Amino acid sequence: MKKHFFSIIFLAFAVNAASAQAKHEDTEFYTPVPAVVTPTYINKAAPPPDAIVLFDGKSLDQWVSTGDTTKPANWTVGKGLLTVNKSAGNIQTRQSFQDYQLHLEWRIPKNITGTSQGRGNSGLFLASIGKGDAGYELQIMDSYNNPTYVNGQAGSIYKQFAPMVNPSLPPGEWQSYDVAWKAPRFNDDGSVLSPARVTVHFNGILVQNNVELKGPTLYVGQPSYKKHNAANPIKLQSHGDKSEPISFRNIWIRSL
Ligand code: MG
Repeated sequence: MKKHFFSIIFLAFAVNAASAQAKHEDTEFYTPVPAVVTPTYINKAAPPPDAIVLFDGKSLDQWVSTGDTTKPANWTVGKGLLTVNKSAGNIQTRQSFQDYQLHLEWRIPKNITGTSQGRGNSGLFLASIGKGDAGYELQIMDSYNNPTYVNGQAGSIYKQFAPMVNPSLPPGEWQSYDVAWKAPRFNDDGSVLSPARVTVHFNGILVQNNVELKGPTLYVGQPSYKKHNAANPIKLQSHGDKSEPISFRNIWIRSL
């Protein structure tokens, strides 16, 4: 009789768990809103001598298509800029990187349209661990007077950590990311030896301070780790929103 009772209790839990389908809203938070801080400079530094230049304003040789890594990256290069080609999908570096310092500049077009996540959305995947959006995303979008969930605004580790403050500049102005990435490490049995860690300066302002990531980025559900290589390509996102494509320049990396 007692056994039967516990079976019924278990069944009730199982039914309850199945009906509680995870929704993307479950991991979107709107408070506290990071304070707006007007940056005093953006980093436009030339690559230091020991850096690998990933984009020099002229060539996409260091990049391939994420959908088919045997194919060249088919984004638009001109006038010293790299501009997202929305029909070409994500692009990623030819080389893999483990722990590194990375610099990247990005610009939302002055005529940007759309709201919330549909306004200049792109992303810097700090490690690409598969096709599409698989990896760890540092969000890029227009977060100048454009409210969205705070753990999805520019400078966020998407759906994990809001930026500490919001140093976004208006559309049309160049902005900078300076990132220190420590890749996660795994034990032979697949368990986590050390989670990923990241520090991010956004327009010279510290927005992520050595945060410990919960796993790769997930749009729906709670992130968790699954064993993968420590060294991976770095990926830029061609987001499916309808707004005008954004541009990049001066991308370099120093392996640590
Ligand atoms: Mg994005």
